[in-house]
Amino acid sequence: MTELAPTVVTYPDGALTGSSTVTHVTVLGDGRTGVVLETTPFHPVDTAWPDQPADTGLLRTPDGDVRVATVVTGGVHEGDLVVGHDLPVRMGTEGWTFVVVHVLDGAGPKVGTAVDAHVDGRLRAALSAGHTACHLASLALDAALSDAWKKDVPTDAAGHPAFDMLAIQTSRITEYGSTDVYRIGKSLRRKGFDPAALDDLRAVEERANAVLAGWAGSPGAIGIHREDHTLAGRRTWRCELPEGTVELPCGGTHLTSLAEIEAITVAVEAVEVPGGVELTMTTGIRLAP
Ligand SMILES: [Zn+2]
Repeated sequence: MTELAPTVVTYPDGALTGSSTVTHVTVLGDGRTGVVLETTPFHPVDTAWPDQPADTGLLRTPDGDVRVATVVTGGVHEGDLVVGHDLPVRMGTEGWTFVVVHVLDGAGPKVGTAVDAHVDGRLRAALSAGHTACHLASLALDAALSDAWKKDVPTDAAGHPAFDMLAIQTSRITEYGSTDVYRIGKSLRRKGFDPAALDDLRAVEERANAVLAGWAGSPGAIGIHREDHTLAGRRTWRCELPEGTVELPCGGTHLTSLAEIEAITVAVEAVEVPGGVELTMTTGIRLAP
């Protein structure tokens, strides 16, 4: 029987360090240990939508430092803690308590131990830049494809037809970049998307890159806003674009200003797949020196 409080997370505010107490330790197999803290700066990879990879780093304990190899989400339901890929529900599902599980390669500190958490700042900075680039690129792609629709469809945070939201299959954030895969099949065509809009992919790329060039280096603030500070709490990414402020739900970490960005560029490729086309957008971001 496991009674656990939801983990309080500080990474949405950009935290890299913090002191806390071990509330639960679980054996994960292969000699690995899962450690739950009351509060943590470590960003876990989400099980259902694994867009931003986990932080790495270390836990400083009275008995020495232990390396955090990866960080996953866990859920407690009817007294059982289910970890990582075994978690059968999405973050925030009613009746579950969600916790951050720090995965160690060996044994871990005992319940009640005071620890200092230290996130690898170089990796975090690279992933935060990549995540910001990912959001901006998806908005720029929506803008670049805004004339491709023959019917009214839901719009994105900037008011363009929401190609990204309607067609996204997977989104993977990398160091200073991202890779987004979209599927253009029967259901998207039925919603009014004209696949002929993808005949000239270089033109799509050029339009998206022109939008991104207009945003890079502008003074707008970027931040994560929230009221609930637990792992499953709703969080909103807010970005002050030159055209106006946009908001969308987001569980990750980000840059703090568009002024940090020297350039974001996308490359778009399409391949035929059964029933339609798969579009891959590869995004890269360069920060201002
Ligand atoms: Zn996000």
